[in-house]
Parts: sequence; C-alpha cells; structure tokens
Amino acid sequence: MAIVRKVLVVGGGTAGWLTATYLARALGAAKPGGIVVELVESPDISIVGVGEGTFPSIRGTLSAIGLDENKFIARANATFKQGIRFEHWARSPGAPGRDHYLHPFSAPSQRPGAPELLPYWLLGYAPKELAFAEAVTMQKRVTDAGRGPKRLSDGPWQAPLNHAYHFDAARFADVLSEHGQRELGIVRRAATIERVELDQTGAIACVHTREQGALSADLYVDCTGFRSLLCGQALGVGWRSAKDVLFNDRAWAMQVPYERKDTPIPSFTIARAHEAGWTWDIGLHERRGVGYVFSSRHTDETRAEQVLRDYLGKAADGLTAKLIKFEAGHRTAPWHKNCVAVGLAGGFVEPLESTGIALIEIAAYLIAHLFPADGDMAPVSKTFNAMMAARYERIFDFIKLHYCLSQRRDTPFWIDNVDAASIPQTLQDKLAMWRCRPPHRLDFISDLEMFLPASWQYVLYGMEFRTDLSAMRGVYDQGESARREFAAVQHVAGLALDDLPAHRTLVEAMARDY
Ligand code: FAD
Repeated sequence: MAIVRKVLVVGGGTAGWLTATYLARALGAAKPGGIVVELVESPDISIVGVGEGTFPSIRGTLSAIGLDENKFIARANATFKQGIRFEHWARSPGAPGRDHYLHPFSAPSQRPGAPELLPYWLLGYAPKELAFAEAVTMQKRVTDAGRGPKRLSDGPWQAPLNHAYHFDAARFADVLSEHGQRELGIVRRAATIERVELDQTGAIACVHTREQGALSADLYVDCTGFRSLLCGQALGVGWRSAKDVLFNDRAWAMQVPYERKDTPIPSFTIARAHEAGWTWDIGLHERRGVGYVFSSRHTDETRAEQVLRDYLGKAADGLTAKLIKFEAGHRTAPWHKNCVAVGLAGGFVEPLESTGIALIEIAAYLIAHLFPADGDMAPVSKTFNAMMAARYERIFDFIKLHYCLSQRRDTPFWIDNVDAASIPQTLQDKLAMWRCRPPHRLDFISDLEMFLPASWQYVLYGMEFRTDLSAMRGVYDQGESARREFAAVQHVAGLALDDLPAHRTLVEAMARDY
C-alpha cells in the first residue's frame, strides 16, 4: 500500500471542479506538504451544460472553498433560489382546488416555547386559506412578492431566509477553475484520455492522454459525466437502475433570453407538471434555463419537444433545444480500488429537487473526510459506497413521493406513477405511518438524508396528503398558542416585505459590487 500523495480528478464539469476545489482546500494542496490535486479535462468534449438549480448545502460548500459570493453571482450568471414552486402536480390543470404549492428552503417557524405548528395546521388552527408552507414560513409571501432572501448588508453567504442558487453550469465551472488554479493550488491539464491502463490488481495504473501522454496518481476521481470512463468503462462497475420507480429518462433543454433587461426574476425554480413529465424554468441573471424532463415510455421525443415549445410560447421561436438521455440509478460501487466516481459518472436521479450537485458536494465531503492517506482503500471504499447507496435510496423515495401522491389520472404517465409496484416498500411504509401522524425527525437518519423532515412535510401537504389527527385531537391542547404563532408568521412576513430588496435588484447590486 502506497501512501496517497496525489489525486487526479478526471473531468472538468461541475463534478470535476467542485470536487477538485473542495479536496484541494480540505487537503491543503496549496500548502507545502499538502496533497497534490491535478485535474484533467478534455478540450474537445463539452460538459453536459445543464444543472442550474442547487440545494442550500451549496452555500456551505462555496464558502468552504473560499469563493467570494459577489464574484460568484457576477461571473456564474447566478441568482438566488429560495425553493421550488410546483405547478399542476397535485391535480390536472383546470381541476378545482389549488394549482400550485411551494417547497421553500426555510424550515417551519419554531420559536422557543411555541408548539410545533404542523399538527395544529392539520387540525385547522391556521386560517383556512393558508396552505401549509404559507402558514408556517414567510418564504412563500416573500417569493410571491419577488423579493430576494437577503439584504445587501447581510454578510457573504449569510441570509435571514434559507436559500440556494441558480447558475449557468459552464460559467460556474470556469469560476471554479480559475479559483482552483489561482488560490487552491490545483494543476489543470487540458487533454483527452484515450485509454485507461489497469495494473495486475485491477486498479488504475495510469490514464493515457492524446496531448500529454500518461498521467498517474494514487487516487483517481472519475468525473467524466455519463461516459463514466474510469469507473463504468475501465473498471466495469455495475449499475443499480431505478427506472422502474422513476420513469423519466430524457430531457429537452433550452436557453431562453429574457424579453426585457428588467424582467423580474423569480427566486424559485418553477417545476410544472405535464402529460409525461415536467418542465423546469430557472431564472438566471441574463437568461432563463428551461427544459422538459419526460419518460420515453410515455411519450416520444417529437411530442415532448412540442410540449416544451408550447410551455414557452413565442419565447421559443428561433431557439434550438438540446436532447439529453439518462437513466435514474447509481453505480453499485462508485469507489472501486483506487478510483471513485463523482457526479454523473457515479449516478443520477433526475433533475427534480436538484439532487445532482448536492450529491457531488456530499461525495467530495466524504472523500475529504474519509481520505485513505495510508493507501488502504478497502475499508474507506466500503464506507463511502454504503453511505452513497443509502442516500440514493432515500432520494428515490423522496422524488417518487412527488409523483405517487398526485391525483392526476389524465395520462398513462400519471396512472403508472401510482401503481403500487412502482412505489418502493420503504416509501409505502412511511406513507402508511403518516396517515395518522405527521412525519417526525425520528423517521429519518439525519446523516444519510439529503431531505430533512421539513422537506417531506412541504411536499406531502403541498400535494394534499391526508394525515388524520382526529383520534389524537386531545393531545394537541396548545391551540391558542398555535393560533398566535400562525398570526406571528404573517406579521413577520409583512415586515420582511418592507425590508428585503427585489430579487433582480439584489442580484444586480451584488454583481456590480464585485
Ligand atoms: P459533465 O458536465 O458531463 O462533465 C464531464 C467532464 O468530463 C467534461 O469536462 C469532459 O470534458 C470530461 N471528459 C469526458 N470524457 C473525457 C475524456 N475522454 N478525457 C478527458 N476528459 C473527459 N443537478 C442539479 O443539482 N440541479 C439541476 O437542476 C440539475 N438539472 C439537470 C438536468 C438534466 C437534464 C440533467 C441530465 C442533469 C441535471 N443535473 C442537475 C445534474 C447535473 O447536471 C450534474 O450533476 C452536473 O452537471 C455534473 O456533471 P458532471 O460534471 O458529472 O459531467
């Protein structure tokens, strides 16, 4: 076993640069005696170019690598994301009832001494017109009013309202590349790998590039996207497919200019359900990123492109769409011997709820903290693989939740999504328990969850899941206190609207300040 002195990250998309910068920072690549971090990316193979919505964990990650927030906003064409607005998910368009709900990133209000609000909302103590998210956080009103999550006076990466970002994936990779090379000691090589050589133990000996000959390291991080050049192709690691649970396997993506320079920018992703999937609509600073994610079992590519164009209307005139194919699933052993796959090379669920980049963050964090300095990969890879697999399984449940609670029965896509055979038993068990009590933190193993109880609650009750607390009514005897709390949330929301700037104003001011 040779000690690990050098890491070679293969691939320069979001996965490559985020992992390289995180590892370089955590492992002291810029310091004498630190671990050497090198990144090789092909000048000829482009990145996937989507992946514009993130999860709130990104704030901690970007802050940890020492990136300047204003620079990031300015250079990555970034905006704030305070949650996801789901349109037409619970019921078909035009059916009576609410046609949208918000999954906000701020947790439900929980002030000291006040009761947990969810049971009281279920028992009808909140004003009837307030959906769950609106009753328990101010974020719905703040986002509906077009406000950002922070004031200019708030510190970098700090904000009163929890948030993530939207950004342009190509520009984001460029920002990280520059930061990684200038500040963190990463060595970048522009070269295309033509062949991966294995040693007699089946580990990677080196990669052969067209431009720079052979490159070798003690640990390889495969960030080559869907190609999975090292982990999938060279090492032949298997694939755990989740396509029987999550049907979407294609997306048409488009970059759409704003009609006017001062068009307001929503600070949430708009996820609208359609006949065989859903569209994402992301407002960046200088353009929109829009796409239709769909199931090829339930529609064809021509019809799917039409759905996207119908959604966009005139805004799509003259624009071309890019088709991307994928399959929900993950590598059975993303860390094999001296190679660990991160990003699309290691797995992908689907774009709903932006799990792709968050899984990259988790993987980078795990690699840094489990780092096998003595070269003993076996125990570390076992731990890493178990933790990633457990996360994926929990994410599959959470994403499936969005589909299987829908009351839509207008197309085979929605009908098939409620077929019990497509709903994992783990999810069925959770839903069974939550019919007579709401989700509790003890239902979750927090170190393995990407989505905490609040997210499950926002989606469950946004989708109008019924938890019948009537048998327990006597237990909840703080109704008046809860009523006061519901009123306080609305009061604070009113104050926040006076205090927070319009989202576009905030983004432009931050970009100017850089
Ligand atoms: P890529 O971007 O494909 O990068 C691969 C890299 O490998 C490139 O630099 C390429 O040059 C290099 N490479 C490949 N072959 C070679 C070779 N032979 N030699 C040298 N270099 C090579 N995630 C989210 O979190 N939020 C979202 O909203 C979201 N939306 C998505 C929508 C769609 C339709 C899809 C498909 C994915 C989405 N994702 C999203 C996932 C997200 O896009 C990815 O997780 C993220 O972009 C990381 O991609 P990557 O770096 O793994 O791969």
